Amino acid sequence: MADVRTITDAETAPEAPPSPTHVTIRREDYRPPDWLVPEIHLDFVLDTESTRVRARLSVERNGDHDRPLRLAGDALTPLSVLVDGADVPWRMEGPDLVIDVAGDRAAVETEVVIHPAANTRLMGLYASGGMLCTQCEAEGFRRITFFPDRPDVLSRYRVRMEADEARFPILLTNGNPVASGRLDGGRHWAEWEDPFPKPSYLFALVAGDLKPNRDSFTTMSGRKVDLAIWVREADLPKTDHAMESLKAAMAWDERVYGREYDLDLFNIVAVSDFNMGAMENKGLNIFNSAYVLADSNTATDVDFDNIARVVAHEYFHNWSGDRVTCRDWFQLSLKEGFTVFRDQSFSADMGSAAVKRIEDVRSLRMIQFPEDSGPLAHPVRPDSYMEISNFYTATIYNKGAELIRMLHTVLGAEKFRAGTDLYFERHDGEAATCDDFVKALEDASGVDLSAFKIWYSQAGTPVVEAHVDYDAGSGTATLELEQRVAPTPGQPDKKPMPIPLRTALIGEQSGAEIASEQLILLDEPRQTVRFDGVTEAPLLSINRGFSAPVIVRAQRSPHALERLAQSDTDPFARYEAMQELAMGLLTAGARGEEVDAEPLIRAAGNTLGSNALDPAFKAEAILLPQEAVIAERMEVVDPDAIHRAREQLRTAIGRGLSAELTRAQAATAPGTDHSPLAKGTRRLRSVALNFIAGGDAAAGAHLAKAQFDTADNMTDRQGALAVLVSLEGTEREDALKAFFERFSDDPLVVDKWFALQASAQRADTVEQVEKLARHPAFTMSNPNRLRSLAGNFSMNHWAFNDASGRGYRFLADMIIAADKLNPQIAARLVPPLGRWRRFEPVRSATMREQLERIVGTSDLSRDTYEQASKSLG
Ligand SMILES: [Zn+2]
Repeated sequence: MADVRTITDAETAPEAPPSPTHVTIRREDYRPPDWLVPEIHLDFVLDTESTRVRARLSVERNGDHDRPLRLAGDALTPLSVLVDGADVPWRMEGPDLVIDVAGDRAAVETEVVIHPAANTRLMGLYASGGMLCTQCEAEGFRRITFFPDRPDVLSRYRVRMEADEARFPILLTNGNPVASGRLDGGRHWAEWEDPFPKPSYLFALVAGDLKPNRDSFTTMSGRKVDLAIWVREADLPKTDHAMESLKAAMAWDERVYGREYDLDLFNIVAVSDFNMGAMENKGLNIFNSAYVLADSNTATDVDFDNIARVVAHEYFHNWSGDRVTCRDWFQLSLKEGFTVFRDQSFSADMGSAAVKRIEDVRSLRMIQFPEDSGPLAHPVRPDSYMEISNFYTATIYNKGAELIRMLHTVLGAEKFRAGTDLYFERHDGEAATCDDFVKALEDASGVDLSAFKIWYSQAGTPVVEAHVDYDAGSGTATLELEQRVAPTPGQPDKKPMPIPLRTALIGEQSGAEIASEQLILLDEPRQTVRFDGVTEAPLLSINRGFSAPVIVRAQRSPHALERLAQSDTDPFARYEAMQELAMGLLTAGARGEEVDAEPLIRAAGNTLGSNALDPAFKAEAILLPQEAVIAERMEVVDPDAIHRAREQLRTAIGRGLSAELTRAQAATAPGTDHSPLAKGTRRLRSVALNFIAGGDAAAGAHLAKAQFDTADNMTDRQGALAVLVSLEGTEREDALKAFFERFSDDPLVVDKWFALQASAQRADTVEQVEKLARHPAFTMSNPNRLRSLAGNFSMNHWAFNDASGRGYRFLADMIIAADKLNPQIAARLVPPLGRWRRFEPVRSATMREQLERIVGTSDLSRDTYEQASKSLG
């Protein structure tokens, strides 16, 4: 699946109330399945209000035991249970159906009726915009039929669907269609077969009035695959980018991983109500419409990039997820970390690799680092969970991808590829573990990677202290490295980790690489590395390309950072020098110290004026670190002080570089041009506009309104509105009104309208957000809409952490209300409240009060209970 994106130890938290229904599941308790299900026949009589599901399972006893057959269910009532055609005794144990089966093999038939329209959790079979669709990962299949719903039970599926033809003319499921026909009363049916055994979480079904954008792809062995993207008719013109992305992804996976698509057809369906980004069901990917639909008038360049990324991600899962799946949900990163690494590499190859790396690291720092230092910290391969839906996290996905990237760095591209070839060959058609993956890389490369396995089991972000001494007389530079990992919940004592650090030395005078790049493996608590033949004072360029997901603390002066920002030969390190230079000023400013912004202004000016750098890189490099990221660097977080310090620096740059920024803001690119240069030009334009508004609010408002009014694309329009929403005056009100009126029929653009206001840097944002929650266009039942308001607001550091505590109350209200409808989405809103330990005492106490209020709510879901009780600590 693809995710969507969006703290003092003064007192001890109270014990969370005991909760008998919330059982913790542990990795060490894994046992192979008692019964296997080689084949399943499903028969659906589909309707929105009630759908009848008959299932026929061929079951086989697995191993020598006399345990009964246990079929997981969730809110299902069996209407009939037959074993080999006969009535047999059965019992319900909690939500599960338990049957004593006498022999080692049997045909088990069950029948249930489910209610798609009443399914507000959006797990299992549900209704969305008049269509029916499914989401089964992780445990949604048990809301459709009784089944051993775990990823290590793989079955061949044959599925029959019957429905009213006028309302549901299109019937789709996994695999290939084998038969179809018409029935009396305007009904029709279709039968499909999936030749590849798969776990139940990859089952999918769609029924609705949909139209296809059709295309085809010829694989490297010459097989023609029919491609279709299914949407509502009106959305068809917005599907071309997704189709181009799909074909590019198919070709890339053949070229880079030697992986070819295996079925005769590949279907993608767009759905408006969807908990996650998209889902890799075999041959039938189901997508959140936000990751399919785009044209330049309604979608930003970021949306276009996200569509390419998510389409590729889900497609890549066909091998890393579907053909080789996970043995149990503790191994989730086996498919997700690897597939995120694959989609990151794909995006890097499609555009600027340096800018892509910067974007990925920024979101890692914004989302995963706080997770790793907070109460919800967990390893890439967790040891326990109450609700697996809570573990679709930045740690499993993004830190998991960094782990794979480190293995790639250490082995090199060729050996890594040999390793993945062996992995796919060895485990094709199987449910595998993270250990299996590492073993395949080791066996193919002959390299011992056992030390790296600690990255799967140990949580927390390592901190590396780095310091260089230079002895001009002997021409030696000595690099002292030291690592530590702070304790995380359940892991008080940490071991040293293997940290691959791409490192070089840059001459302070010459700006040249005076010690060429080498890969240093820091695997001891302390290490010393000597560089000989160093002819001038060196500047340290370390963790180049962000070769390890760690925090590097290198004592470098503003002068050294300014020099590196200008001349480092690694683009990421160059970006990093700018960010460190800014971070030093921001943290000092937040502590109330006088700061000298001149070195940063000079460095930003040099960056903007450079002919060698592309505009996208310039935009990334001059962006100031976000307030949440600055907060991570503070002992005690004071959101007002951080906000003030960042605003002062934004003003200083806006004034100091007004000519350069005005030039950058004036550069335009045609809205339909999506080349890297055009996208970079637009990105830099809006970043420049933001600084200009920081330097002179009136001039900024004027320019932003002009950019808004003349924009021929959503990127420029949204960039302008993002600046206007934080300002005062009629330009703001006029633009917000015009935007809403023009796009009120397009739900994805209305989401932007909510998100922009929730992200506004204003003293009254919390009031505005409360008001927006009462807006007629706001609804909690649509996950995108709920995230656009509540999710974005909770990421708006200054506004959310308003001293009144109103922001915390608002979020808690949202969580409690959403929990009744969709626990998975409610639980995902909890983490910002878990930062209470890091804040000054008043905010800290208020956040905890809200968490206690959530935990104390009656009938709270397991999802939200786990997140809120762990957040209390
Ligand atoms: Zn995924």
